[in-house]
Amino acid sequence: MALRIDVITIFPEYLAPLELSLIGKARRDGLVDVQVHDLRRWTHDRHRTVDDTPLGGGAGMVMKPEPWAEAFAAVREAGRESLGEDSEPLVVFPNPAGVPFTQSTAQDWSQRDWLIFACGRYEGIDERVYEHLADGGWEVALTSLGDYVLNGGEVAVLALTEAVVRLVPGVVGNAESLVEESHSEGLLEYPLYTRPARWTDPAGVVRETPEILLSGDHGRIAAWRREQSLARTRRRRPDLLGEAGGDASR
Ligand code: SAM
Repeated sequence: MALRIDVITIFPEYLAPLELSLIGKARRDGLVDVQVHDLRRWTHDRHRTVDDTPLGGGAGMVMKPEPWAEAFAAVREAGRESLGEDSEPLVVFPNPAGVPFTQSTAQDWSQRDWLIFACGRYEGIDERVYEHLADGGWEVALTSLGDYVLNGGEVAVLALTEAVVRLVPGVVGNAESLVEESHSEGLLEYPLYTRPARWTDPAGVVRETPEILLSGDHGRIAAWRREQSLARTRRRRPDLLGEAGGDASR
């Protein structure tokens, strides 16, 4: 069955790139069903208001609870019409205060049949929306793209969707290319080379590829790549091996 992804946002146009490239093709091939919804559809005033000032004072605006509650109910109803009455979505709130997103999260989500992404804006969403969903038995995840702050959840949703959808069977033509990637086994990918094997760079330096890659000996090549992966992980991301330090320059 196709993976269904609903996105609720005040900027539906922000999600236009989901029509391009591999994800666009996966949608046309029926492997994923992406539905983008404008949160303002669930407002009822002339200005289609989704935000208000923070109670208790402070800078910025906070997203009001009412449109979100209506949106979740409507999107769940629409999803159940196509997926079945018992279907339960995972509701993902991109949030800098959430749990960091990793490749294993992507793997987990790619095996589900329904995700709803809820894009926050301004200072964030009224806390009672989360309480309302939790009390109603919804499965909710607060997910961070990293320890920095974006203007809204849309950019995060583009990244999350791409990481998840490419793991849906059939989306990436050569499934083997997913197995050897960075983070698939807790290590970073080995260095990559292509033709020409001997390249003179613009500074006149001749740069050769490692000879072993031309040897045709697949066993030795695999061992060399593994060694390179380990060395690179130790150098750049020792935290992945449970070690301290790290050098991002190479
Ligand atoms: N006031 C919030 C805080 O200090 O945690 C930041 C709000 S941010 C300006 C607006 C929205 O952008 C958030 O509700 C969230 O949807 C999204 N966002 C920002 N940074 C993010 C990150 N690192 N990962 C995922 N989503 C993020």
